[in-house]
Amino acid sequence: RSVVHWFRGDLRLSDNTALNLASTMAQTSESGVNATLIAMYLISPEDFEAHLTSPAKVDFILRSLKILQQDLDKLDIPLYIEVVERRRNIQNRVLQLASEWGANHVYANAEYEVDELRRDVNIIRKGVARGICFSVHHDLCVVKPGELSTKSTGKQFSVYTPWFRTWTEYVHTHPEVLEVSPPPAANPSRTREIHSTLFNSPIPSAPESKSLSSKEATDLASRFPAGEHAAHKRLKKFLSERIARYSDDRNTLSERGTSMLSVHFANGTLSARQAVAAARDANTTKKLNAGSMGIITWISEVAWRDFYKHVLCNWPHVCMNKPFKPAYAKIKWPTTPEAETLFEAWRTGRTGIPIIDAAMRELLTTSHMHNRARMIVASFLCKDLLVDWRRGERFFMEHLIDGDFASNNGGWGWSSGTGVDPQPWFRIFNPLRQSEKFDPEGVYIKQWVEELRGIEGKAIHAPFERLDIEEFKKLGYPKPCVNHETARKICTIMYKEALGK
Ligand code: FAD
Repeated sequence: RSVVHWFRGDLRLSDNTALNLASTMAQTSESGVNATLIAMYLISPEDFEAHLTSPAKVDFILRSLKILQQDLDKLDIPLYIEVVERRRNIQNRVLQLASEWGANHVYANAEYEVDELRRDVNIIRKGVARGICFSVHHDLCVVKPGELSTKSTGKQFSVYTPWFRTWTEYVHTHPEVLEVSPPPAANPSRTREIHSTLFNSPIPSAPESKSLSSKEATDLASRFPAGEHAAHKRLKKFLSERIARYSDDRNTLSERGTSMLSVHFANGTLSARQAVAAARDANTTKKLNAGSMGIITWISEVAWRDFYKHVLCNWPHVCMNKPFKPAYAKIKWPTTPEAETLFEAWRTGRTGIPIIDAAMRELLTTSHMHNRARMIVASFLCKDLLVDWRRGERFFMEHLIDGDFASNNGGWGWSSGTGVDPQPWFRIFNPLRQSEKFDPEGVYIKQWVEELRGIEGKAIHAPFERLDIEEFKKLGYPKPCVNHETARKICTIMYKEALGK
């Protein structure tokens, strides 16, 4: 008899809801015999394509799988890994493997995107017919989706601030949601003999379209160490060294004042519960909303991740390339060759606006971008370059190591003013003001835009306007590809037309 845990976006042993339940089930003996816990991971190249998973993220997953396999091995639990070329075959393959292994229980943590929910519902149905119980559990969020609603109307929240107040109250009155569960218990050592073929599955290489050069792979491995041990190390360091200053430093582009934990949340090498519980415990008040300003602010940022996942569950149409607010689907984004040239300038970091180019080059070089920079480049793409925000959303997914559908879609919806609880569409970021405010000395710009390293003083924010023309020409840096004031006026007209104003 065996019990299966199917790893998906939850690549950790500690505080893994479904894994813990699978382990408990395996420990529940039938006729005096415990079951064996078998872990599996199915790699689907078609899923990587469909989800626009970046090569950096694929690489992080493969590196984390290796660590997961080593950790499971110490517990005599095999991690069976298989590549399933066609994603539609996954449903049957899960059940086939369970049957082969004599398992009548398969556990997994829920994924909330529409395709994934459909897949799981199908497996549950097919499993019933084959006598296999496929059990899917809430694990991704601190507070499970559907749990919070407005007091007055009982509806789901679409505005963050009241949602966050309710979220905090809920966590304080249900402290069990922050209880973290232990890793699975070890299998009996004879498991190695009985299931010898399931141990030591080779970790496959990335599909061709997602592969990296060896230099890229080495850089990523040192910038973003994979696996749950690295996640805990980073969390511990952040809590002891930086969180106290988080509310002051988090918007300064040149400071690494943020935790850099998103890659771990996005790949499940750290749970949001573990992070929030650790931050709360580091707070002298042991509360989420009183005490250290740095801790309170950081918890409220981690909560944004929960918020966007709740939004995805409540309004699944955001998964279907539609804006949260249907009226905004009517915006007529220009599709001229000029629009294409502007998109090209944005995605390659050659717009001639230093702060934008620095941010895009940070993304292209590191597969990550500072949150403030994400907000600035997202606003710039749709409101200055007048390019459909969905192209930016897609580009981010294709390049971010922490690509996460709900947070990315939420961030783009916020920045373009078309999403849930958005920045009002008529409030348009001025890239120059953002640059002067969040990178006053131009340290971030100089880090990423080589051509501008020699510039002194305030000219760094707008070299074309502020330098002598001959001096500018020597830089080999492009002129601004757009005038902010003109673009702002056209953008206002486009949005107003779509909204019938
Ligand atoms: P910290 O400041 O240390 O925050 C801690 C954690 O809180 C983060 O790791 C993240 O999980 C969560 N968080 C913080 N801010 C947000 C936010 N605005 N929305 C949701 N969660 C948040 N985040 C992703 O994880 N994946 C994405 O694909 C993604 N795309 C984005 C696209 C746009 C246009 C914008 C504006 C934001 C996006 N974000 C995304 C949110 C945010 O930029 C990153 O989570 C953050 O930069 C990660 O760095 P950190 O871990 O150092 O964050």
